[in-house]
Amino acid sequence: MEYHPGRHFLQIPGPTNVPDRILRAMDRPVIDHRGPDFARLGEEVLSGCRAIFQTSDPVVLFPGSGTGAWEACIVNTLSPGDRVLAFETGHFATLWQAMARRWGLEVEFVPGDWRHGVDPERVEARLAEDKAHAIRAVMVVHNETSTGVTSRVPEIRKAIDDARHPALFLVDAVSSLGSLEYKHSEWGVDVTVTGSQKGLMLPPGLAFNAVSKKAIAASKSNRAPRSYWDWEEILKSNARFFFPYTPATNLLWGLREAIAMLLEAGLPAVFARHRRHGDAARAAVRHWGFDLLPLDPREFSNSLTAVVMPRGHDADRFRAIALRHYDISLGAGLGKVAGTVFRIGHLGDFNDLMLIGSLAGVEMGLRVAGVPHRAGGVQAAMDSLSKEAVPEAVNVAGASNAGLRS
Ligand code: PLP
Repeated sequence: MEYHPGRHFLQIPGPTNVPDRILRAMDRPVIDHRGPDFARLGEEVLSGCRAIFQTSDPVVLFPGSGTGAWEACIVNTLSPGDRVLAFETGHFATLWQAMARRWGLEVEFVPGDWRHGVDPERVEARLAEDKAHAIRAVMVVHNETSTGVTSRVPEIRKAIDDARHPALFLVDAVSSLGSLEYKHSEWGVDVTVTGSQKGLMLPPGLAFNAVSKKAIAASKSNRAPRSYWDWEEILKSNARFFFPYTPATNLLWGLREAIAMLLEAGLPAVFARHRRHGDAARAAVRHWGFDLLPLDPREFSNSLTAVVMPRGHDADRFRAIALRHYDISLGAGLGKVAGTVFRIGHLGDFNDLMLIGSLAGVEMGLRVAGVPHRAGGVQAAMDSLSKEAVPEAVNVAGASNAGLRS
């Protein structure tokens, strides 16, 4: 690999930058996954995960990716022939429902324009019509990583309740958990799906399902064939803090550290930091004179920003130029928006100067690529950041100032 001085800017919306603290936590000998030291690690990560998902429900972990977590969710709760309601919010919602079809489910896929999230009113209207309760589950991608649109999960929960419908509520929180506010229990989610490589700041390799009592009950009567993804054996072993098969031990050391870091910062402060960064990134995009892909400000994602390229300019060419000149990886447009959209990831282990550096990489890349834009987006982002201090940074500044005074 060619030498590039300094750190690569990995500003795709996941995998995200893995902090040194986590890299060091994983840099240790592999231990016996059936020995006493493992049980201590297992106990810490299993209880720590509940804090991050904001739940007292069990969180089931698998070696796997977000796609595996989707499959685990489907095969544990739904049987071939079951009807589910899903919404075309973007690429990942499309892939998840395609997987559900491959598992023999009858998917009602409500078309969308890839610029809006799930409309709670539509959810309520469709469920209210379903007097026979044929719909067994509502599937929602909380943060559509392909479009930068965040659906309003609490309002969707309310819509399901207002329709007095018993459907399971299945939510993909792959690019929101650990970055955007997410409350598995309070929001009445039955299965929350995620992966390790985004807000949890870990390398790829872990898949998660947080599972409500209702979801566990559904899994017990569910007829779908399953083996590796079956929750039952895992939950049994987890009761003693072990796993039925070899877990990804060193990723679990990393997860233990990630949980500690998120809790040290405090989840509200983590979410506030992402909100600030989302605001600042959008300020830069508007200043450059580009459109954001999401149209409804209530649904702007604070973990990534999807930018529409000016007509006649190819997003992938621009990304390749930015990579070559400034060693920054930006997210590609996926599926329907390939070539017309690029994405700036600002989730996970990320601070003000990393954001400003990333936006400078975009702005300089636009100039080299000859994409017309109004210069000064980085300044607009700095102005936006200056409006509000970061709660976490206040603590850090307070600590170091105290040190200087002594
Ligand atoms: N769901 C969302 C919202 C995603 O962003 C992704 C990946 O980026 C996935 C699911 C699939 O996860 P993975 O690539 O880890 O299998």
